[in-house]
Amino acid sequence: MKKRRTFRRQVDQMFRKPRDVGFLSKVSLLLVTTFLCLALIMISRGIKKHFVKELEINANNLAFGYNHSLTKTVEASNVVSQLINEKLEIISGFISNYGQGLTSEDLKKIALMISVEEIDIYGDSGEIRLSNVDEYIGWIPPDNHPVRNFILSGATSHIDPIRDNTITGHAVLYGYARMEDGQIVQVGINAKVLQNLIQEFEVNDLLREMLTHNNVEYVKYISASRVILDSSSGEEIGNVLPENSQEETLYDAIGIGLFQSVQPKDYFDVYEPVYINGQNAGDLVIGISLENTRNAVKELNRSVTVVLIMLYLAALLMIHLLNSKNRKLSYLAYEDELTKLPNHKYLRRILRYELNKSPRDKIALVLIDIPRFTRVTIARGYEKGNVILRTIAKNIEALNIPGAELFRYSDEKFMMLIKNYDSKESLMGMMDALSSAIPMEDGENIEKRFRTLTFGALEVTEKYRRVGEALVDVMIAMDNVKEDGAKPYAFFDEAMEERIKRENLIDKELRTAIENPHEEIIYLAFQPIVDSRSENVAAFEALARMNSKYYDFVPPLEFIEIAEKNGLMVPLGQIILEKALDFIKNSDDQGYSVRIAVNISAIQVLQENFVSMVKKALTKSGVKPSDLELEITETVFLSNYDLVNRKLGQLKELGVLIAIDDFGTGYSSFARLKELHVDTVKIDQYFIGRISTLSPKELITGDIINMVHKFGLKTVAEGIETQKERDYLRDAGCDFLQGYLYSRPLSEEKSFSYIKCHSIMDDNITIESGKAENGMLS
Ligand code: C2E
Ligand code: MG
Ligand code: MG
Repeated sequence: MKKRRTFRRQVDQMFRKPRDVGFLSKVSLLLVTTFLCLALIMISRGIKKHFVKELEINANNLAFGYNHSLTKTVEASNVVSQLINEKLEIISGFISNYGQGLTSEDLKKIALMISVEEIDIYGDSGEIRLSNVDEYIGWIPPDNHPVRNFILSGATSHIDPIRDNTITGHAVLYGYARMEDGQIVQVGINAKVLQNLIQEFEVNDLLREMLTHNNVEYVKYISASRVILDSSSGEEIGNVLPENSQEETLYDAIGIGLFQSVQPKDYFDVYEPVYINGQNAGDLVIGISLENTRNAVKELNRSVTVVLIMLYLAALLMIHLLNSKNRKLSYLAYEDELTKLPNHKYLRRILRYELNKSPRDKIALVLIDIPRFTRVTIARGYEKGNVILRTIAKNIEALNIPGAELFRYSDEKFMMLIKNYDSKESLMGMMDALSSAIPMEDGENIEKRFRTLTFGALEVTEKYRRVGEALVDVMIAMDNVKEDGAKPYAFFDEAMEERIKRENLIDKELRTAIENPHEEIIYLAFQPIVDSRSENVAAFEALARMNSKYYDFVPPLEFIEIAEKNGLMVPLGQIILEKALDFIKNSDDQGYSVRIAVNISAIQVLQENFVSMVKKALTKSGVKPSDLELEITETVFLSNYDLVNRKLGQLKELGVLIAIDDFGTGYSSFARLKELHVDTVKIDQYFIGRISTLSPKELITGDIINMVHKFGLKTVAEGIETQKERDYLRDAGCDFLQGYLYSRPLSEEKSFSYIKCHSIMDDNITIESGKAENGMLS
């Protein structure tokens, strides 16, 4: 034990072991945290998916909505391209035919002939060498001009979208072709001529119109070979769009994931294929801005997170409240209010845990008892009793025994659970040290055995599987602490266990005997009591015997004690009384007139209906009350002198005789003999045996007889074994004699034979063949 700890701290520490309050709260906390984290992840994924889906649907709808227009436009564009290409082909034919001889005048004619606005042939240095429009001759296209771009591109032909003529400002559709000899030919058709087609041909307008839709940042129209045919910005036309290096999804591109591996982007390209006459004519690339969506996702995530955090806090609060409530309930259930120690329920719990542990610790149980506690409490008051208990608990804890936990086990008992102790000897030393933990009043001078605590100890070996077994055995050990106070403790051992087993079997047999009195499990032996002068049989003492299935011989003192301890004495006593009365009835029937002396336990006398029970038994058997003598010991008077004496008076009034058995051994008082309703005093064997060993001077047996006579009572001497004892007693005037000298206890049959030849002492007469008499005379 560490320093004095409060129970609360102990519980807190112990709660780490068995699965209880603290553990459960931790688990709930973990579950709630996990659940809410998962919920957060799932919800945020859900939100993102929802927005992505929406975005994709919008892009698809947009593409789908424009697909028709785009198809038309592309078709128109193709017609125009074809037109221009035809014109370019014609001009190229002319150039090939005429070679260097072709003049600007020729071009004018050709232009009229093929109905084009403009035909220009560029010289090597990039200037217009020949043209149907005179003022254009010599014009050099500036940098980044579409013509210059074409010249530099190396392409064989190209058609511009309709644009203004750089010089005149008219809208013209231009086409370019590169001749085999490197000359560049440019053909321009007045846009007005193409009026019908222009509208549809303006792919660029269409793409720009698409920009007006939400989240659309740019739109490109690309060919199957990824060449940008047109773009909403008008830039990049003719460039080749790089291949997507990896499959990227809109979901990844948005970003904001907890486990996002891909770098988030500002735009995402949605590809929508364009089909013309069932042929793939390229793709519409819609560049969607992700910013709005990302912001919306973030916004919603934030709200969800706030809600979940609030839920989490609420759950924490609930767990905390439940935890403290359960803790309080635990304290109520497991704390001893007075000493603040854990109680026996908690001990059982801890013990169960320890017994189920694998591997198990080396553990011992020590039951601690406070001698005379009830008496002290009665004498000094309840409050004082409480103070004593608290002080003992404090004193024991102050010893700081390593590995030990103290529990309040019952009213005046504590239990100590010691883990990983060194040896049995160390436990002994510990108990010696603990024994003086009992507080003493100043100047209190009482016997040592009342000044020390007593202990029952048990080493809880592997054989113990259940708590109950260990607790019973430690109590057995406590039960075996010797009253002499030599050692204040007893360890449980196998012999104790054997004793308990024997007690249980005897108890079982007694119960069967009570349920079936005719089975003769309990039967009677009869010992003659003779008149000291005539030596005629005056009476028989009925002595109970047991015919045990399990043991050869069970002494009456043993089974009577077990019956008394286990609440069987009253029914058993009644059976014995009835059997004894049967004996008298049978002897009457045979013409003998003897009394029967029946031993009665204190417990029987104290029964409320004892007198009426005796009365009923007498009536039932038809035996005269004066033929019955009840033997009671002096201890009967200890519990309630007046009540017992009153009952004896009532029995006497009936005519029943009363004898005090074993006189002289207990709390004998001659003074009381006068007022007691008794007829006979049976002087204990102790005073008879001494006749043979002590000198006449030292002997007080004769004095006892005299004294008893003075009160007008008869005397019986029991346990006479020698002639010397008989002679002494006869001389001393003892009225009746009983002992092996006359006869051992006999069976009913042999008792009758004994009466017949009462003067013949036959040592060979035994009560039953095969069953040894209890060896009192060996
Ligand atoms: P107890 O009533 O004092 O009985 C006398 C005991 O002394 C008997 O022992 C008897 O056999 C024994 N005894 C008689 N003569 C001699 C002798 O010369 N030498 C020696 N050494 N012993 C002698 P038992 O039968 O073993 O009974 C022992 C005690 O058991 C009885 O003492 C009595 O207290 C109790 N007991 C026996 N039967 C009953 C019963 O039916 N009811 C009750 N309540 N107690 C009974
Ligand atoms: Mg007796
Ligand atoms: Mg006796």
